[in-house]
Amino acid sequence: MQPTASDADPRVRTAEIVAVGTELLLGEIVDTNGAWLAATFADRGVEVRRAVRVPDRRDAIVRELADALDRSDLVLVSGGLGPTEDDLTREAIADLVHETPRVDPDLEAALRARYARTGRAMPERNLKQAWLVPSARPLANPNGTAPGWLVRIVRPHGVRLVAALPGPPHELKPMVEGRLLRELPLPDDRLWIRLFKTSGLGESEVADRLDGLTTVENPNVATYAKADGVHVRVSARAGSADAAEALGAPLGREVARRLGDAVWGEGPDTLAGVVVRAAIARGARLAVVEGATGGALAAALSEADPDRRALGGAVIAWRTDAMDALGDRFGADRGASALEAATDARATFAVDAAIAVGELRSSDDEADVAIVDVAVHDAEGSDRITVRLPERSGSRVRLRVLTRALDLLRRRLAVAEPDSDSALAGA
Ligand code: AMP
Ligand code: MG
Repeated sequence: MQPTASDADPRVRTAEIVAVGTELLLGEIVDTNGAWLAATFADRGVEVRRAVRVPDRRDAIVRELADALDRSDLVLVSGGLGPTEDDLTREAIADLVHETPRVDPDLEAALRARYARTGRAMPERNLKQAWLVPSARPLANPNGTAPGWLVRIVRPHGVRLVAALPGPPHELKPMVEGRLLRELPLPDDRLWIRLFKTSGLGESEVADRLDGLTTVENPNVATYAKADGVHVRVSARAGSADAAEALGAPLGREVARRLGDAVWGEGPDTLAGVVVRAAIARGARLAVVEGATGGALAAALSEADPDRRALGGAVIAWRTDAMDALGDRFGADRGASALEAATDARATFAVDAAIAVGELRSSDDEADVAIVDVAVHDAEGSDRITVRLPERSGSRVRLRVLTRALDLLRRRLAVAEPDSDSALAGA
């Protein structure tokens, strides 16, 4: 039997994302709305199957929407709700449902009132932001002039939904969180997630350790190489939060066992945050001396330690002429090693542990390799690593050296800690 307009809305189990904007295809802006929508709806138990970007062309939007509605229960559209002629999402949806947009008196009054509050006359071209078609209900926009549309469409396969959302992220997010998620018939499914963050292992070493675990779909294990190491995500989906946890937790424990002390944190943990937490737990104060990281290490530790409970001092631009002013402290004499700098900094700042990141130096025999020495000096002794990078410079080099330096600090602080496992588990 053909579905009719009076059929109850189905549960939204599957969704697709259509990001509208020629600027997205020119690479002028990045589709962060797509990523945010994907994460938000996955978290609510919706399977996001596809995400695409389309230009500000009416026919392209109509075609993409029609295809998406053949496959999925819900289509999330971002962008194209502005007042200008190249904002065509409303027109495209009207084409799709064969309806004519009309100015909605309530939306018009709200729009005029919004302008009146800011003491401005409403430009007439904004009136199209008060349009509605009979199949659409408005979604209020607390942060902008364009309301969203929630459109109910009867298709041969059943009732489908399109949610048209404004492009600016500070308008789209509250509309989704405050309105859309409440109005949609979402699945009861809940997703349980445990995210492990590791260091010191490559992606294939992690894969070896997880051998045999990564092929199951639910519960599921997935690995991602990130700037701060390889992340391993364990997830499970079930009809309630408790059932999802019961399904996922044993796998989570097995993954934790196999990864062992390569795991430095979980979920929202950052390496700097873990270092600061470990230092505070030990009552240890830290100092840093930086060359190649150019202040990134001090910045990361400062951000993680707003009350300065762990960070006892920082010096940036080691071994440059500016350092001459510091006499022979912090290894300021040219040619001093990272270890000497760390030792000097520990004494000068009277802290428990100091780390020094040397300047980038080049390799004698490999032209495209950069080398940076990093050393830590603390009450238990010292440790050094040499970071070799297959690039000469740039922000990626800084980030990689920063990550290795923080990881070295983390390991030093963990070594001296009698029960480092419980410190992490308490995170
Ligand atoms: P629009 O609703 O198409 O007029 O978009 C207005 C503004 O929202 C754009 O100029 C961008 O700054 C931003 N924007 C639009 N689409 C996206 C997107 N997919 N991700 C992030 N920002 C976006
Ligand atoms: Mg646009």
